[in-house]
Amino acid sequence: MTKPGITIGVFGGGQLGRMLVQAARKLGFKTHIFDPFDDTPAGRIADKQTISPYEDMQAVTNFAKTCDVVTYEFENIPVIAVEQAARFTAVYPDKFALQTSHDRLIEKTFLRDKAGAPVVGFAPIETMNSLSGFMKKYGAPVILKTRRFGYDGKGQIKVDTPRDVKAAFARLGGTDLIAESFAPFVREFSIVAARGREGEISCYPLTENVHKDHRLHTSIAPADDRQNIGDKAHAITHRILNALNYVGVMGVEFFELEGGGLIVNEIAPRVHNSGHWTQDAGCTDQFEQHIRAITGMELGGVVPKRSVKMTNLIGDEILQADALAKKPNSYVHNYDKRDIKPGRKMGHVNEVLEEK
Ligand code: AMP
Repeated sequence: MTKPGITIGVFGGGQLGRMLVQAARKLGFKTHIFDPFDDTPAGRIADKQTISPYEDMQAVTNFAKTCDVVTYEFENIPVIAVEQAARFTAVYPDKFALQTSHDRLIEKTFLRDKAGAPVVGFAPIETMNSLSGFMKKYGAPVILKTRRFGYDGKGQIKVDTPRDVKAAFARLGGTDLIAESFAPFVREFSIVAARGREGEISCYPLTENVHKDHRLHTSIAPADDRQNIGDKAHAITHRILNALNYVGVMGVEFFELEGGGLIVNEIAPRVHNSGHWTQDAGCTDQFEQHIRAITGMELGGVVPKRSVKMTNLIGDEILQADALAKKPNSYVHNYDKRDIKPGRKMGHVNEVLEEK
């Protein structure tokens, strides 16, 4: 158990940071948000905020010196910021998790070679010929992705036939690309899990995810485990967390194949959109779990008392928040973002489906 009143620093002031601030406050901790922009969802409600580019090493130093532990809420934070903060205070998850998830090629190689996790066939792509060769080896279609800064389906193209190779290659800029074989999945799901400072691990149950326009739309948990894949997915998640010596909450995204085969699509070294259902399921929510893990507290219970469907409120869907909140068993979480923009995650609603 740690002392109340310690300060938790968070790189990133978005909605995930905001919900981390809310959880930290519940546990009696103070928070300090670091973000390049003023008036962020998290900065607005934190005890303290630093508004500065992540590359400003003096600002990072000053920030870290005020924090007992630092974490991050999204993975595109520059590694140098985390390295610099780690000179002055504890940082969890550490820079290895961040580095691994920055680059899809490094991440897939880590998953396959260090964590023994099943992944699709993949290869770095530097030339059109290498993409054609990859397609010959694995068969069409293949997915071409940028190695860095891809999220919510950005920076990726499905290449259906050899004729499409040239256009796809040109559209993604032709460098720093990775090709992946196509996973013929029957369902996408994720495991949100936490690993504490002593190496203890707790996994939430299977969460079924449905995407719309390449963005997460709904998550249902606990998902129907019709192919008995839960234990296998948890075992893979354990191996990933241990191989990284990870501390904190992580989201592991999977493809489920016909016959019960599993493929890990990607990992997110942070609290995860597909774990938002935990807030209204009667177990420890993922934000509190992350704060517990990084501060060295005991991890909380992960067995939900209710099954929950989470739906993201994107763009002007947030205008339905009041109507949704009127429904019995529906709990709206509004991120209080200033401007409604198409495609922007503005909030989510958790609908309790069933009491256990
Ligand atoms: P990502 O940005 O890698 O999370 O991909 C976004 C979405 O694209 C995934 O949730 C899948 O629906 C789809 N996708 C990505 N990679 C593959 C793949 N190798 N095979 C089939 N579908 C994929």
